Amino acid sequence: MSIIVQKFGGTSVGTTDRIKRMVFHVKKEREKAHDVVVVVSAMNKTTDTLVRLAGELSSMPSKREMDMLLSTGEQVTISLLTMALQHTGLEAVSLTGRQAGIQTNGVFGNARITFIDTDRIKSELSQGRIVVVAGFQGITDQGEVTTLGRGGSDTTAAALAAALKADRCDIYTDVDGVYTSDPRFVPQAAKIDTLSYDQMLCLSTMGAGVLHPRAIKHAKEHHVPLVVCSSLNEGLGTVISERTQRNAPILGIAYQKDISVMTICGCEGGESLILYDLDSHHVETEINKINDNLILIVKDEDFPEVKRIVGQYHQAYSYIKERENLSKVSVIGRIDSTQEAIKNVTSVFHDCHIAKESIWESSAGLSALVDRSDIEKAARVLHMHFGLDNLESRRAVL
Ligand code: ADP
Ligand code: ASP
Ligand code: MG
Repeated sequence: MSIIVQKFGGTSVGTTDRIKRMVFHVKKEREKAHDVVVVVSAMNKTTDTLVRLAGELSSMPSKREMDMLLSTGEQVTISLLTMALQHTGLEAVSLTGRQAGIQTNGVFGNARITFIDTDRIKSELSQGRIVVVAGFQGITDQGEVTTLGRGGSDTTAAALAAALKADRCDIYTDVDGVYTSDPRFVPQAAKIDTLSYDQMLCLSTMGAGVLHPRAIKHAKEHHVPLVVCSSLNEGLGTVISERTQRNAPILGIAYQKDISVMTICGCEGGESLILYDLDSHHVETEINKINDNLILIVKDEDFPEVKRIVGQYHQAYSYIKERENLSKVSVIGRIDSTQEAIKNVTSVFHDCHIAKESIWESSAGLSALVDRSDIEKAARVLHMHFGLDNLESRRAVL
């Protein structure tokens, strides 16, 4: 029988009323005689609340204990949704990441799925049950609980869909598809009907938080179509697959709000050591090189770790400059004349009083660092400048 994987994000299961409404989506697929595996996130801001609680007890909580703590959020939701399904007469069972056979490496807080033993899920499905799996978590071969990084339930869903050879993985969320920019902050953003995996990967890697980049990689590798759609409205959403794409030179504007930058000046000999060390500590950095200066662009949450690691190599560079409270905005797409575009964007930012730190040609198109207070304005201005504004746009945002 064909298998559909559905994933419900935090807002979609944010209250018991919303959980009841999700039953409708599960039932709809069940009535089409599909086997259904559901992946859920923690309710609403549960994960943030847990992070805050930990912070009240320790400024540097152990990563192992953080994962133990954060994995509880999703477990609340699996049992509640399963109860709601059972209440309507559907056969359903909830499984934690461990019970679902999701094995990961041992990188607490940012683990990667290494293998999924699907036996238990398949056995439950064969007995006619809907299987509800806790997103965002797994287990190491030492039996330690891990989490997959913020937004990681998308990854659980796509990885399960791949392992189960599902027909589709539907990502139900609080917007009705992928837009040309975050529709919450860029009112003229337009919904995109179809994207290729690589196009979505560019948007997502550069900050379009609607889908986790690792989820796209799993789906791409195993040819599972992804559909991003609203959990509250019926609609076609955005289809992401190898057979679909958006035919436009500029796909959209994505941004990452909480960015810090470290410039390591006069870094001749130590560069490879520093980069190797950052990599072996699983710190994700974007690296730019200008002459013998090394520029590391990282998320705020990783900055303390970057400072600690780079500090160990103080003999290998002249001095470092640190810059916090920045954001990164990126134009995703094919830009014909990059130097010309950089000049134009610089002048547009100047006219709109947007404080720009730097601008460069990036793997996805163009990226700029701007003052954090200007980020949404910068995204709106670039959206208009690159001809993406949809004046008719009527968004559906929860
Ligand atoms: P969930 O809890 O369902 O996983 P997320 O908050 O992780 O939801 O992702 C959905 C949010 O992603 C939307 O509310 C929207 O603000 C944001 N977003 C950012 N960029 C985009 C984009 N290009 N298209 C659609 N939504 C986007
Ligand atoms: N609950 C986790 C988070 O808030 C995982 C997820 O929602 O995908 O990041
Ligand atoms: Mg998400």
